Amino acid sequence: MTAASTGEVSLDTSDDRRLANDRDTSGASVMSSASATSMRTQLCGEVGIGDVGAKVSLCGWVSRRREHGEHLAFIDLRDHSGIVQCVVSGSLDVRSEFVVRVEGTVRERPVGTVNENLSTGMVEIGDCVVEVLARSQVPPFVLDGRVEVDEPLRMRYRYLDLRTDRMQRNLRMRAKANAQIRQTMASLGFCEVETPLLWAPTPEGAREFVVPSRLSPQSFYALPQSPQLAKQMLMVGGIDRYYQIARCMRDEDLRSDRQFEFTQLDMEASFVGQEDVIGFVSEVINDATEALTGVTPDGFERITWAESIDRFGTDKPDLRFAMELVDLTGAFASTNVKAFSGETVKALCVEGGGQFSRSRLDSLVERAKALGAAGLAWFKVNPGEGGELELESPLARHLDSGEITAVFKETRCQAGDLILVVSGEYQRSCLVLGQIRIEIADTKVGDGRYRYVWVVDFPMFDGVDASGCPIPAHHPFTMANPADLELLKTEPRRVRSQAYDLVLNGWELGSGSVRIHRRDVQNTIFEILGITKEDAESRFGFLLDAFDYGAPPHAGFAFGIDRLVSIFAGEESIRDVVAFPKTQSGSDPMTGAPKAIGDAAMKELGLAARSVK
Ligand code: ASP
Repeated sequence: MTAASTGEVSLDTSDDRRLANDRDTSGASVMSSASATSMRTQLCGEVGIGDVGAKVSLCGWVSRRREHGEHLAFIDLRDHSGIVQCVVSGSLDVRSEFVVRVEGTVRERPVGTVNENLSTGMVEIGDCVVEVLARSQVPPFVLDGRVEVDEPLRMRYRYLDLRTDRMQRNLRMRAKANAQIRQTMASLGFCEVETPLLWAPTPEGAREFVVPSRLSPQSFYALPQSPQLAKQMLMVGGIDRYYQIARCMRDEDLRSDRQFEFTQLDMEASFVGQEDVIGFVSEVINDATEALTGVTPDGFERITWAESIDRFGTDKPDLRFAMELVDLTGAFASTNVKAFSGETVKALCVEGGGQFSRSRLDSLVERAKALGAAGLAWFKVNPGEGGELELESPLARHLDSGEITAVFKETRCQAGDLILVVSGEYQRSCLVLGQIRIEIADTKVGDGRYRYVWVVDFPMFDGVDASGCPIPAHHPFTMANPADLELLKTEPRRVRSQAYDLVLNGWELGSGSVRIHRRDVQNTIFEILGITKEDAESRFGFLLDAFDYGAPPHAGFAFGIDRLVSIFAGEESIRDVVAFPKTQSGSDPMTGAPKAIGDAAMKELGLAARSVK
């Protein structure tokens, strides 16, 4: 082909398309690269000053085409590694997103035309012969990342969106995370085992996706919410240390940090306790953080669930900033102010919050009410005469001097701060202020800081269901703290479990627990949860049976890879680290899923459609 000189563009894909370096036996240095294929010598982003004089073949998409007069054109050729400028003589029938193969010679760019923004900006490809491998329509959005594109459009044309630097970087980061996780898990002696996607319906808490069985009409498989029971079976099966990068499916409403399907590093080990698992997971996470961010985490802190609620008003504390909750219950022990006479008085001192406008304060009050507080009191801390501090608030004149002094002392406030106070039931008050703390701090997900904290000593149960039975805080297979076993039947709400969460920057990365490995203990827990003997037998009979045949003590953990990668990538939504995510309404605009399957398929599956209003 001689398109460079004639301006002709060929759609030829015949056999004469071979490696330029195969053909080039003369002169210029011969390219060699792990990225070389029968069609290209290297990747676009790999071309550099050291290649000057070399003949290269590159493949990719036309990122941009510029004409320079009638007989000179520039193509910015893009592949996942970067962009390189190709200079073509003659007019050229290529447009953005055409797929082309370019052969040419690497040369230094003329003085004054070096592009500092490109890694290949010192060079360009001259004397180019361009072969069009595929044409493209005008894309529905520009792929250079400079314009914010509406999400529905990105999803509809996800294959185009994937070509952007952002998505390329995110998906490759994810692949790197998986590779590092596998490496560390193997080094710790864990064995990768794949567990079934078609599993028995055994709800662990979340709603399941079910799959109708053709061979057993009116029977269903369920897609696993997690391989929880499968991995416990593996322990009974003597696998000793199992892991899997597991797909999990939960039919729950979607939001920015939740998809129907997500990926977890799922693990389980035998003859271990909580500390062993915490050790394994910390090592995996530490290695993944280093590999992906280059930052070594400062370590993994530890806090009990009770302390976390008390100090941060959440079981997912973001330790990147302080602003801890302060207890003012003592300060208002004998108050006459009704607003402060609840079971607890909790406060938050917002540094510099004295600047907040009245409307911002009003919206904080509304927010606290929406979160379930009776109200929210605020006090601006002002400098008074003679260096004393003063409180400014509609409520301030109702406080006596002892209360005011106690507020100053406990909150350690300074002039210019804002004190927010909630009074009422203990846990609710903590949670409301904890949420407000997060919203005021407004930290970004990925700001280059990685504060890991293990939250331990979770309660065994968290509230009660409609029939008054306790709800497991983790899942029904979690072992109670041996010190609290006595309380199981008498005061279940006070029982601590052997469950633990790993939290990063205020995001719950994952959870795990020491498991029950005895039928009698498991039956007791089922009983407390209101699961009848028959129900337990039909849903979890295989687990109970397995416990009769020598189940080793075991414990495990699972953490969300989507979440981890999105934090490392600085993405707010996990959709941006998933190749083909669903929208908030659970659909896939690209494929049109979910879809009706037609009468014949319905019949074959023994299903009949009924309209639901
Ligand atoms: N199966 C649990 C989950 O998916 C994790 C675990 O306990 O290992 O949350």
